[in-house]
Amino acid sequence: MTSQELFDRAVRTAPGGVHSPVRAFHGVGGTPVFVASASGAHITDVSGSRYIDFCLSFGPLILGHRDPVVAAEAHRAIDDGWTYGTCEPYSLALAEWIIGQVPWAERLRFVSSGTEAVMSALRVARAATGRSRVLKFEGCYHGHADSLLVRAGSGLAGRSAATSAGLPDAVLGQTLVAPLDTEGAIDAAIEAAGGDLAAVILEAVPANFGLLPQRPAWLEYVAARCREAGALLVLDEVITGFRSAMRGAAGLYGLRPDLVCYGKVIGGGFPVAAYGGRADLMSLVAPVGPVYQAGTLSANPVGMRAGLATLRRMADADGWHELDTRTARFCDALAPRLAAVAPDLTVARHASIFWIHQRTSDPLRRPDAIPAAHHEWYARFFHRALERGVYLPPSPYEVCFLSLAHDEPVLGDAADALVAAAETAGHR
Ligand code: PMP
Repeated sequence: MTSQELFDRAVRTAPGGVHSPVRAFHGVGGTPVFVASASGAHITDVSGSRYIDFCLSFGPLILGHRDPVVAAEAHRAIDDGWTYGTCEPYSLALAEWIIGQVPWAERLRFVSSGTEAVMSALRVARAATGRSRVLKFEGCYHGHADSLLVRAGSGLAGRSAATSAGLPDAVLGQTLVAPLDTEGAIDAAIEAAGGDLAAVILEAVPANFGLLPQRPAWLEYVAARCREAGALLVLDEVITGFRSAMRGAAGLYGLRPDLVCYGKVIGGGFPVAAYGGRADLMSLVAPVGPVYQAGTLSANPVGMRAGLATLRRMADADGWHELDTRTARFCDALAPRLAAVAPDLTVARHASIFWIHQRTSDPLRRPDAIPAAHHEWYARFFHRALERGVYLPPSPYEVCFLSLAHDEPVLGDAADALVAAAETAGHR
């Protein structure tokens, strides 16, 4: 059984053969790798080939695949029953742990995807302010709720109309979009909102259109103008929450969101996400308040227990500091080696997230500054890396993640493979 044979069948069962678009390899061409199993820093495909994994399920697996402590807890959870649809102690334990660590998460509600978390947080923001409009930034991705699929990143990154079809005009009209890294555009958007701005939603470290770390002064400006406009600051930490640091990007940049959205790492690789924030805002949520939001499988006990095991293990191992140091060492050594074989390559990094891209004169902070040649170059680079046993995200605009399972020997092998891949991928 090969990936090709399975993919030929898959395209007859699902749109594009996949259940989430980027998995189809449209960004890099070729046939998707069908993974049969995974362990630590590696995935193994159905033909038995093994790859070092820098995609890590697009971010959740901060301890690597099948971490033994998380696996044991998930197995225990299954032994106890995998969904009750009632109150249980496991979501309480995870919520108390998070609230104990993150001062701006005064109350939390668990949901099953980042999309749900963001959609629900914005509903709260609209209810709290009595306003309708939301300001987002170009290239930021906040899940696939209608109002946020406008000039978005992730699977929409690099497409000419980075906006989905099927969105009603009335919904589109509620979303204002401003470029990143530009103070004046925020003022203009707030002005255009005409006093009807409910929220500003932001990835503090945009990571869905390549990795585009922002100037701290710009982040502060966004937060300040948002407050002045009487809108709520909604921070989308679906990628950065419990990834960048214990307190996420908000902690690193000194931002204090009114509402915050988590996903990915919070569930340790199970379908868990959450939204939370100021107690007065979260008290608007049903059953105590008028904002309805519910979920059959919300706070699923397997995910709750795996999530808590993951976070505890990260905290006990000083995991965020360790990963930051390890990723810095890896990227600092990799960048000059890449540049030696392909002078226009460089590596952007934030904590344990990195992205290999073509050098520009200024640090990249906006999607429209990404060199046009990046896409084609990445497609070649991706396949050359794959041939050498490294699985990168199958899109030029998705970022790479490290886990604690990516130890020095693994990273040494990965660096050699990436340099060899860059050597043969050409610069243009
Ligand atoms: N927000 C951000 C910043 C994300 O990166 C993503 C997913 N990559 C989402 C929201 C949506 O999360 P999900 O795919 O779990 O719906």
